[in-house]
Amino acid sequence: MSQQRSITIHAPATVANMVCGFDVLGFAVNDPYDIMKIRFSDRPGVTIVNEDAYNLPLEPEKNVAGAALLALLEEAPDVKGLEITINKQIKPGSGVGSSAASAAGAVVAANILLGHPFSKPDLVRFAMNGEKVASGVKHADNIAPCIYGGVTLIRSIFPLDIIQLNAPPLFVTIVHPQIEVRTADARSILKQQILLKDAIKQWGNIAGLVAGLQQQDYELIGRSLEDVLIEPVRSILIPGFDQVKKRSRDAGALGGGISGSGPSIFMLSRDEATAKKVEQEMHSVYDAINLEHHTYVTTINSNGITITEQ
Ligand code: ADP
Repeated sequence: MSQQRSITIHAPATVANMVCGFDVLGFAVNDPYDIMKIRFSDRPGVTIVNEDAYNLPLEPEKNVAGAALLALLEEAPDVKGLEITINKQIKPGSGVGSSAASAAGAVVAANILLGHPFSKPDLVRFAMNGEKVASGVKHADNIAPCIYGGVTLIRSIFPLDIIQLNAPPLFVTIVHPQIEVRTADARSILKQQILLKDAIKQWGNIAGLVAGLQQQDYELIGRSLEDVLIEPVRSILIPGFDQVKKRSRDAGALGGGISGSGPSIFMLSRDEATAKKVEQEMHSVYDAINLEHHTYVTTINSNGITITEQ
């Protein structure tokens, strides 16, 4: 293995908590994505080089990419050191898996550099150490779609059980209003107990959504994109949420909801023209209340992390 060799990858943004699929369903998108480059280093452990303006920590144990790589290095004892260069395009804290892209991208790139000693579940396991740095808990609902691509179901984290779902072509419109929703706040306002009647609605919708994706039934997908448990509580943290949702549906979107723990909102559409109409509705909601925001119109990314140079 040449010590000079380097690997460059693109690690995509991801949407977790796919409406009714809180903590279990997520998908990767084609835009935005982070660019990361990894190579062997004579410096022991992990060295981080930032090529963006986000000023993320350079100490490996505080940077999600570093924490994920340290977990990988524990199981790759022959490797002295790795240097990772991060050019982040996915704004941290936006709710579209910025931390997962760094954690997953770092370990996938390292695995390629090392000649593929690890399986995808191993890589998810390492990357979850990065998510723990970002949010205090190990979770895989952004990591899994980032690594596997497409729509993924996390049936269980301990033990890890990830299922890749088939999905029909879907366009995704994302709006990121420039406000801060702290993940800790978004978690702390959730109710710890739910009513049986609400649980029944929710699992009906999850089953409907999974069946709709597998059968490429857009009507069923649209009917199942309903969250009676989390969204009513969390959406109060996001200005304009109800309007964005209503106007997107009126414009022809199948449905959507909060991306991750917010503040980004995503909507799914069957075709690009509708996805662009939805984007216009999002602009008009936030322009009316003078709230700075960014939008993306993209598609589901079925490949996950891709190698661009090796
Ligand atoms: P997102 O859903 O956009 O990933 P999170 O709140 O889960 O947002 O994660 C972002 C947090 O993780 C921020 O506090 C950020 O400072 C921290 N962090 C540490 N290292 C990184 C990294 N390499 N990429 C992104 N976020 C990082």
